[in-house]
Amino acid sequence: MNVQPIPSVSERINEVRALTAQIVNKEILPNENLLWARRTNTRLTPDDMEQARELREHIKAVVKQAGLWAPHLPVEYGGAGLDFLELAYMNEVLAYAVGAASLFGVVAPNSGNQTILVKYGTEEQKAKWLIPLIEGKLESGFSMTEPDQPGSDPRSLKTTARRDGDEWVINGHKWFTSNGKRADFFIVMCRTEDGEGGADVSSRMTQIIVPSDTPGVNIVRGITVWGVESDHCEIIYDDVRVPIDNSLGRRGSGHQAAQDRLGAGRVYHCMNSIGQMWRAFDLMVERAMAREVHGGLLETKQFIQGFIADSYMDIQAARLMTIHCAQKMAEGIDPRTDISAIKVFVPAAYERVVDRAIQVWGAAGVSGDLPLAAMYQGARTLRIADGPDEVHKILIAKNVLSQYHRGAGWDFGA
Ligand SMILES: Cc1cc2nc3c(=O)[nH]c(=O)nc-3n(C[C@H](O)[C@H](O)[C@H](O)COP(=O)(O)OP(=O)(O)OC[C@H]3O[C@@H](n4cnc5c(N)ncnc54)[C@H](O)[C@@H]3O)c2cc1C
Repeated sequence: MNVQPIPSVSERINEVRALTAQIVNKEILPNENLLWARRTNTRLTPDDMEQARELREHIKAVVKQAGLWAPHLPVEYGGAGLDFLELAYMNEVLAYAVGAASLFGVVAPNSGNQTILVKYGTEEQKAKWLIPLIEGKLESGFSMTEPDQPGSDPRSLKTTARRDGDEWVINGHKWFTSNGKRADFFIVMCRTEDGEGGADVSSRMTQIIVPSDTPGVNIVRGITVWGVESDHCEIIYDDVRVPIDNSLGRRGSGHQAAQDRLGAGRVYHCMNSIGQMWRAFDLMVERAMAREVHGGLLETKQFIQGFIADSYMDIQAARLMTIHCAQKMAEGIDPRTDISAIKVFVPAAYERVVDRAIQVWGAAGVSGDLPLAAMYQGARTLRIADGPDEVHKILIAKNVLSQYHRGAGWDFGA
């Protein structure tokens, strides 16, 4: 991966990008077949498996040595203590090595839950859940979406938590709770008040920590996703009792906590997508330069030159939009329209870029020998998860229209 210093950003951002690229180029990319043998369906001997395990430990040690371990966490929790922009710029480099985030201590949904626990957890909750989660002694899930309600309108959630003395009694039906089979605890989004109090629907949601071995937590199945059984689980919470102290943040703060999780998270996800587009682009161009068909290299065919140009424009546009949004966020300017814009534009651009790379590679493009097929499924999924395209387009139009109704146009220079 060709990563050079960017003149317009801080020294620290360039340092983080250079260190990350060094690890990606030197330690990860040359060893992908061993690290991701399952993806390529390569049969490993016990010796190979041991070598892969040792390699993972070695890379984690190199990451720690470089001060890049757990880049999403503050230093006092064992993280790299990066600020928002540093982490955003790091993500595009790290994501180039598809699947390598775990080697840097970033594993979804644990990383998102860690961030929420850092912000909303009490000292007791941090000691009991956050620290073991960071140390890798516990696993977690985030349980919000329900099969019978539209996830794109989280205020419609039906799962309830009723107070009974010092306990919550939780009843509800969730699905697509990622990491569900491995999780030791879930952060469950619950409705904690009925609609009588006059408060708006958003302020009736509370996130509650539920250990997965609590009686009444019934993991029904791992849902089949893209034809393969996954760890995105369907879960029924049936009269599940947990202490009141398991509420995360004050009662009614659940919606805000979910927004906190998603806002910055969307910028990071987009920077990840850009890193993966970058990889797909490199793979496509390299193949075009090497594959000879019908009497000439692919790079000499105008169809393929069109693919290269279109993908170049997609990546540049996606990247600049995302960086513009990140800069607004970092400066405290209302970024909501831009967050929605990147959430729609970047996954769609990602899908187009990967699609072209697959086309250039032919059959190999859809095989497990390259990361492209997995990227393609990931890109398509991104158009649904974290808020589907249509919901974000509605938000963009609403914000633009309200500005015009106030008598002002849209300032694209802002
Ligand atoms: C791989 C994967 C992992 C996930 N992991 C988690 C997780 O860990 N925890 C969790 O809680 N959830 C998770 N989810 C769920 C995800 O957040 C939801 O799928 C998403 O919020 C959309 O909700 P929904 O599926 O209920 O779709 P719905 O809300 O039913 O929407 C369906 C479609 O309706 C259309 N639509 C919606 N609103 C409008 C509108 N106003 N106007 C026009 N069209 C509209 C859109 O096209 C949308 O795609 C995951 C999903 C996937 C695919």
